[in-house]
Amino acid sequence: MVIVTKPDATPDQIDKIVKRVEGVGLKAQISTGEQRTVIGVIGDKTLLGDMPIGSMSGVEKTMPITAPYKLASRQFREEPTIIAVNGTKIGGRKLAVMAGPCAVESTEQIVTIAKHVKNAGATFIRGGAFKPRTGPYSFQGYGLEALKMLATAKQETGLGIVTEVMTPSEVDIVGDHTDIFQLGTRNMTNFYLLREVGRARKPVILKRGLASTIEEWLLAAEYILSEGNPDVILCERGIRTFETHTRNTLDLNAVPAVHQLSHLPIVVDPSHGTGIRSLVSDMTKASVASGADGLLLEVHHDPDHSMTGDGAQSLFPEQFEKLMQEIKPIAIAVGREI
Ligand code: PEP
Ligand code: MN
Repeated sequence: MVIVTKPDATPDQIDKIVKRVEGVGLKAQISTGEQRTVIGVIGDKTLLGDMPIGSMSGVEKTMPITAPYKLASRQFREEPTIIAVNGTKIGGRKLAVMAGPCAVESTEQIVTIAKHVKNAGATFIRGGAFKPRTGPYSFQGYGLEALKMLATAKQETGLGIVTEVMTPSEVDIVGDHTDIFQLGTRNMTNFYLLREVGRARKPVILKRGLASTIEEWLLAAEYILSEGNPDVILCERGIRTFETHTRNTLDLNAVPAVHQLSHLPIVVDPSHGTGIRSLVSDMTKASVASGADGLLLEVHHDPDHSMTGDGAQSLFPEQFEKLMQEIKPIAIAVGREI
């Protein structure tokens, strides 16, 4: 259920409503919009009994949320969520562009790529320190050392950092170094990890599980939101289908669908969505046209020597630079900017 307050509700009235909800053992999640505050009531609402919440001072109406995910739903919050991070905003008019290698391989590598993508207009450097690999003998990332290399890249360029966290016990250490946590496709249903980043105070990019429905994905986001972290960014990165030509099938239906169902921003990763460099630029353009709030792209200056298998889907810096120019008119056509 959500409690919608009147536009002129006072902080004191809102406080009383929250206390009333919490007093019966339910959780109250506040969402402050431009016009009014909405209070999400989380838990078994029969605990409210016949309590006349609807007639409390400052309350305009109460509404049930019919979707299985509550805080993630548009019913909970009509306005889009805009996340401010490292001097930029994600979910507003301007597209967020996060680019960089699959994995952080050396200070020289990450700084070189960060400079390239920054000059081309990216606002975040991406790069894995902890890599979730399909096989246990593949390169697993340089861990803490790689987090320090990312910090150097940030110092040199001012770009925000996006890097993956894989286990609840590493949320603190990764959080000390990153601006945005990435939760990878293989961890979308790692519910302990979802709860742990939900207790952190940093934005989270939640990649869609490789065989997850949009509803399951929004329920995964709900785990993070329900722990008190409102800053979730969804990332469509392709799903498994019967098609084997591409690494995954990039489901761009998800972009407008998520915008209808949820207030959370959604970015698209055409690199993992295709797995093929020659397809990445076209699918990036399609992502922008579909209304994505941002892009997550793999870029490598020497992809043939990439330490993960993702060199084949990484753009060369020059391709990335060209692409950033080419998407400008598309962004404008759909009411956005780069
Ligand atoms: C990545 O971004 O490099 C990555 C491992 O992505 P995904 O979890 O989508 O496979
Ligand atoms: Mn990758």
